[in-house]
Amino acid sequence: MKKPGVLLVMSGFSGAGKGTVVKRLLETKDNYSLSISATTREPRNGEVHGQSYYFISKPDFEAMIENDDLLEYATYVNNYYGTPKQYVFDQLEQGKNIILEIELQGAMKVRDQYPGAIMVFIVPPSIKELKERLVGRGTETLDVIEKRLQRAEEETHYIKDYDYIVENDILEECAEVVHSIVVAEQHHAVHYGGIEQVLESQFNEVLKGE
Ligand code: 5GP
Repeated sequence: MKKPGVLLVMSGFSGAGKGTVVKRLLETKDNYSLSISATTREPRNGEVHGQSYYFISKPDFEAMIENDDLLEYATYVNNYYGTPKQYVFDQLEQGKNIILEIELQGAMKVRDQYPGAIMVFIVPPSIKELKERLVGRGTETLDVIEKRLQRAEEETHYIKDYDYIVENDILEECAEVVHSIVVAEQHHAVHYGGIEQVLESQFNEVLKGE
């Protein structure tokens, strides 16, 4: 029986390592694809248009909103971020597990529209370590890091709205746990509405032969 594709929403504080967990899933497991978001933020060193994000202007982003091209969007530390809709639907249709690596406001919008989405929040081993990772990454100024930490503190109040919380201490373990959640979801009885008819016809075939 064909397993259904899962819409996996992954959120987590900036610096918690969601991106690395996602990369690991894409590299080590079959049948995952990643939704590439559109954003108005400037590319960081090494980020590639169409791979990391679609880096677009504010007017272009607003046109996407206007045309209803986005599944969700949010502003995060002075920039727009949003999920192009079509790709997500195409992947689900093909039975792929599609990962949305998005922040909390957008995640909640996805859940409202798509109640079958699995919501996972990645936490760092500690906030001290989170700050160290952000500083160590060296991609943001201290001012932006401060804003990201403030935003992380605000987000803490909403973590309980997620379905699963996974600590990212050891990357490989964290990715395995997320994958197990997806596998469990694929086997949820709710996705097997047609199983009676399928089994019934198999029974008929087998029993007829007796
Ligand atoms: P960053 O600037 O560090 O790449 O991303 C900042 C935040 O925006 C992260 O929490 C990231 O998960 C989130 N984000 C990235 N793409 C999207 C998106 O399409 N929609 C929403 N709502 N958040 C996003």
